Amino acid sequence: MGTQTRRAVYPGSFDPPTMGHLDIIQRAAQLFDELIVAVAVNAQKRPLFSLEERVEMLRECCAHLPNVRIAALEGLLARFAQQVGACAIVRGLRAVSDFEYEFQMATMNRQLAPEVDTCFLMTHQQYAFLSSSIVKEVARLGGAVDNLVPPNVARKLAERFALQRQEA
Ligand code: ADP
Repeated sequence: MGTQTRRAVYPGSFDPPTMGHLDIIQRAAQLFDELIVAVAVNAQKRPLFSLEERVEMLRECCAHLPNVRIAALEGLLARFAQQVGACAIVRGLRAVSDFEYEFQMATMNRQLAPEVDTCFLMTHQQYAFLSSSIVKEVARLGGAVDNLVPPNVARKLAERFALQRQEA
């Protein structure tokens, strides 16, 4: 058996982090020695939360997981994975609809960094229909999201949308 640290990168927008993300993080943290959750800047997606806010929320959610760290991802994922010495990129799969995009990305990343493999974890069935967008939509309309996101994220969402309602 090798003594090398098996490190993986879990990239995403995490705008905001959900219980689905957290489930993948916890499971990946058991499979690898070290997991780096890489938060994408994602300028095109016009995120609700800034990069710093998303990093901070994830730090709070993962404080109990000693082999997980949170980093900002500014450039190319494949290069980032190589730079940190990762052997794998972790992604979550919910439905068939996720497959095509994920397949494309994994194929591209294999070309860019052949030594880094993409590893897919199936969603827990409980979270199969959960996405950051649906969480934002429900929270924006004043619905309860307590079962869908960790408590610190639920608070941030409530704050953000209360502020937006005041401004409107
Ligand atoms: P991106 O914009 O890169 O797709 P997301 O933050 O939406 O970023 O998702 C990051 C990763 O987490 C993706 O691989 C996505 O499929 C996965 N994911 C999102 N929601 C869930 C969920 N409910 N269960 C399992 N995986 C999920």
